[in-house]
Amino acid sequence: MDNYSSSTPQTLTFDVLIVGAGPAGMMAAEHTALAGLKVAVADAMPSPARKFLMAGKSGLNLTKDEDTAAFIKNYDAIEPLRPILAEFGPTEAITFAQGLGQEVFTGSTGRVFPKAMKASPLLRAWLVRLENLGVTLLRRHQWVGPLVAGETHSFETPSGEVQIQAKVLILAMGGASWARLGSDGAWSKHFTQAGVVQSEFVAANVGMQVAWSEHMNPHFGKPLKNIKISVAGAQSRGEFVISQLGIEGGAVYALGRMLRSNAFAKLDFVPQISASDLYKMILSRKPKDSLSNFLRKSVKLDATKRALVFELTQPMPRDINGLVAAIKNAPLPLTGPYPMDQAISTAGGVMWDALTPELMLKSHAGIFCAGEMIDWEAPTGGYLITACLATGRWAGRAAANYLSATARL
Ligand SMILES: Cc1cc2nc3c(=O)[nH]c(=O)nc-3n(C[C@H](O)[C@H](O)[C@H](O)COP(=O)(O)OP(=O)(O)OC[C@H]3O[C@@H](n4cnc5c(N)ncnc54)[C@H](O)[C@@H]3O)c2cc1C
Repeated sequence: MDNYSSSTPQTLTFDVLIVGAGPAGMMAAEHTALAGLKVAVADAMPSPARKFLMAGKSGLNLTKDEDTAAFIKNYDAIEPLRPILAEFGPTEAITFAQGLGQEVFTGSTGRVFPKAMKASPLLRAWLVRLENLGVTLLRRHQWVGPLVAGETHSFETPSGEVQIQAKVLILAMGGASWARLGSDGAWSKHFTQAGVVQSEFVAANVGMQVAWSEHMNPHFGKPLKNIKISVAGAQSRGEFVISQLGIEGGAVYALGRMLRSNAFAKLDFVPQISASDLYKMILSRKPKDSLSNFLRKSVKLDATKRALVFELTQPMPRDINGLVAAIKNAPLPLTGPYPMDQAISTAGGVMWDALTPELMLKSHAGIFCAGEMIDWEAPTGGYLITACLATGRWAGRAAANYLSATARL
């Protein structure tokens, strides 16, 4: 698959050139190659799909076992994604992984993972499939713009600048987080210069910073299970981890958009106990029982939850209603998201208005976009990878149709 070397001429010619060997770009490669086209995928990094492999370190949550209608509701760009995810949603993502020899399992929350709990076996099988389809992988090829309609595209490589000719270009260069894995968002400036409207990158699926007192130091890295976070009328129940910077984990990411725009959230340490039952429990507390002992023995809060109760409400109220509020409605002050480079994904990117329904740039005929570089946002839970695969497939098929339509002209 990898057949570009310094001995080959400095200009290569393909039907379809894809920039970005992440899940979106590889899916676009598969579908253009299946249409019988001569396809290359160029990536700036020495090896493909580094972020996908990183996603595998936490088990590779491929998708969520939900019907498509419920699945789609998790995206902020429901209407433009609807036809795309209707053709490639959770069922298709599962079939895709199985087709690459990966058995999958569904966790208790509906999240679907490969049984191998990593991305490398799937990626290896996928690269073999692409090689068998005749796809060329060009490593260490950084697209350097400019973004122009036309057949010649410039790349920086270890052996200097090279020009690659292609009738169609599919850009799948990812978002703007974890830059060391390749997705640095540097493509954005070329789009700006070419007049393509984008919305600013924003960290999504990212921790929220909290200015802890030193009392929380022993609890960094500790999980809080079964808590409820509320913000701006929205709620999320689950788990998060306390870190030096703040809080991170599924229950935080699920409220990403709301948490980003609010300075306070509320924490319920015992969502399984109603406020009135907690009131009664506090009422029957033995006078000699310290509050900490009571929280440990009767309310069953572990050391980290107890520390956080005392951290968030100072001074601790003496009246029962005040105590109930400190346990079920504690104010959590937020000082903004973690730095963008630590985000699992980024919102922002090429705006839907700049794209046709086929994901071609309205201003640049023959140039398509796919994956996280398009302006959509979703929580973790497999929604990200599924939409990247789905938009890659959609752009690939649309590019193949575009080529056959222009060939007929
Ligand atoms: C720690 C972590 C865990 C995650 N876990 C999950 C998960 O479990 N489930 C889930 O759904 N999602 C998860 N994600 C998110 C998911 O990995 C991404 O949303 C997905 O990889 C984006 O796919 P993409 O193809 O659009 O872009 P990327 O995977 O980012 O690929 C883009 C590619 O483009 C290349 N590129 C960029 N600029 C250029 C250029 N100028 N020239 C040439 N090449 C370029 C990059 O090198 C890169 O290989 C996780 C992300 C992280 C960081």
